[in-house]
Amino acid sequence: MKCDPTIYRGAPPSLAVKPRLLRHLLLPPLILLLTIGLGYAGYRVSEHFGIRSLSENGERQLELHARTVESELGKYTYLPSLLELESSVSHLLADPTAQNRVTVNQYLEGLNRRSRSRAIYVLDTTGRVMATSNWRDADSYLGEDLSFRAYFQDAVRGQPGRFYGIGSTSGEPGYYLAHGLEEQGKIIGVAVIKVRLEALEERWQRARLEAYVSDENGIIILSSDPTRRLKSVRPLTADTKEQLARSLQYYWWPLNELQPVEREHLAEGVETVTFAASSGLAKDEKEVSYLAQTRKLNDTPWEITLLTPLQDLRREAANQGMLVAVAFALLAFLLIAWNERRKVIATRLAAREALQEANNQLERKITERTAHLRASNERLKGQIRERRQAEDTLRRAQDELVQAGKLAAIGQMSTSIAHELNQPLAALRTLSGNTIRFLQRGDLKVAADNLNTINNLVDRMGRITANLRSFARRGDDQGQASLGKAVEATLQLLALRLEAAGVELQRDFSDVQLKIDQTRLEQILVNLIGNALDAMQDQAAPKKLWLEGEPGDGKYRLRVRDNGPGIDPESRKHLFEPFFTTKPGEQGLGLGLTLSASLAAAAGGSLSVEFPATGGAAFVLLLPLLQPAKAEPI
Ligand code: ADP
Repeated sequence: MKCDPTIYRGAPPSLAVKPRLLRHLLLPPLILLLTIGLGYAGYRVSEHFGIRSLSENGERQLELHARTVESELGKYTYLPSLLELESSVSHLLADPTAQNRVTVNQYLEGLNRRSRSRAIYVLDTTGRVMATSNWRDADSYLGEDLSFRAYFQDAVRGQPGRFYGIGSTSGEPGYYLAHGLEEQGKIIGVAVIKVRLEALEERWQRARLEAYVSDENGIIILSSDPTRRLKSVRPLTADTKEQLARSLQYYWWPLNELQPVEREHLAEGVETVTFAASSGLAKDEKEVSYLAQTRKLNDTPWEITLLTPLQDLRREAANQGMLVAVAFALLAFLLIAWNERRKVIATRLAAREALQEANNQLERKITERTAHLRASNERLKGQIRERRQAEDTLRRAQDELVQAGKLAAIGQMSTSIAHELNQPLAALRTLSGNTIRFLQRGDLKVAADNLNTINNLVDRMGRITANLRSFARRGDDQGQASLGKAVEATLQLLALRLEAAGVELQRDFSDVQLKIDQTRLEQILVNLIGNALDAMQDQAAPKKLWLEGEPGDGKYRLRVRDNGPGIDPESRKHLFEPFFTTKPGEQGLGLGLTLSASLAAAAGGSLSVEFPATGGAAFVLLLPLLQPAKAEPI
């Protein structure tokens, strides 16, 4: 099968390959970029909604804890002002005797114990401690000058003193609430209560809550994480620093700034902050992020900040982002696979169509060629019919010619037969006359001899007439003949001519039984020997005729050879053609060899000619043997 190459014609390779190559090169990085981008977007969206949900929850928590802090602070707000009502305090401030001091000290001691505050003490208007609840302790404030404290300065001016600081004596942090003690509209002293707020921190720690409270200076005064305590949440100005140093509010504490690694403002009082990891955190986490929500605490200049860790949220968001990226990658992979499959199917369809087309073309060609073949077959059949008709016509003409030839030969032979018959007839007449006379004389023996000779002559005449009949017979030869008898009969027929010509005859053959009618074999031999005699007619002696035979391959080969003039090359070509003769006048009809050859062929044999180097002509008669083994020499 030869496919049409144009069916598979595609775009030139340089043009077809480049865009595909480009696509294959660009697609993977593009998909990777999109995967990363979508993953990041998924992360951000998840984080955004997570933060929103966290901040809603955080707001409630913040409110709750702010209220707790406010109520904790509120518990002590009115305690210092209560001392205004205590007459022993005003007596002491008016008359600072040892007795009065002891009375007030004991009173304050009891009050402090009941209120569970850290210390309660009373200052005069110069800032000196006049009486204190811790008067028994070694580090008692008694007699100390605390005029530099801001809470004293506020209170002595009649304003509420609110102050978180580190005690200058004990070095212990605490919340100081101061109140100016008035008598008849005049400040006579200041009552101060120091409260420890560690309970709040402990409560936060127990609840695993991260929170801190920063004061008006931005210094963290309460923190669930002790490392953040007394650090500033915003930068301190030089003035503030100087003022704080002067008031010793935080004693000599370094007041480092709490510096977040990253800070992002989200809304009013809401931001995300990232701190460098503190020692308490897991070692593999270098940074920790929080959602920081801040709210002002009522009745104080302080702010409370709730820190909600963002690790879990970020981990969740990262998982979500990863999920989005994986989903997209999967989708992209499925799309690519689907597209590839679609292309493969399209290619297969195209190939199938091309194959179908090639098949159709092939079938068309086969149909066309079959039609051509059928037409030429029909033409050939017509030609064969015509040839057969021509052959039939030719054969009929040939048969007719052969028949005509036979009739002509009979005509010719009848002359010689008449001549042949006249001689025995004449002999018969003489012999029969003589026999009558010998019988009359009573010489029976000579009469019997004559009658025997008469009998032989009659036989011979019968055979001559039989020859005539056989010439007219048609059809295949199914008979059998004795070569010896045939040769004898022929020589008898031609005896006169042989004698007249003085031919020397040489016989060298066996008396074999041949598959041919006896008469036909005699006819062939008459023709061959007759021709030899004709050829040697005008020749000087010695005239020789050889009859040589030999068996071989189931057949017997009889050679009739003469030493006549032979046959010239031009005549050799036409010897077996009907009506070819070189004999002058009425002598030859040119049918002898033709008929002999056809008789031999009808018997399954052949007749051919040879030209011996010694001269003359040799006709070879090949005939099938009846019993090939029984060949005896004559
Ligand atoms: P016809 O004898 O009537 O001519 P044939 O067919 O028997 O016809 O012979 C054809 C020719 O073959 C003869 O005319 C003769 O020229 C040639 N021919 C046949 N036998 C011999 C022979 N033995 N020697 C020479 N020529 C021969």
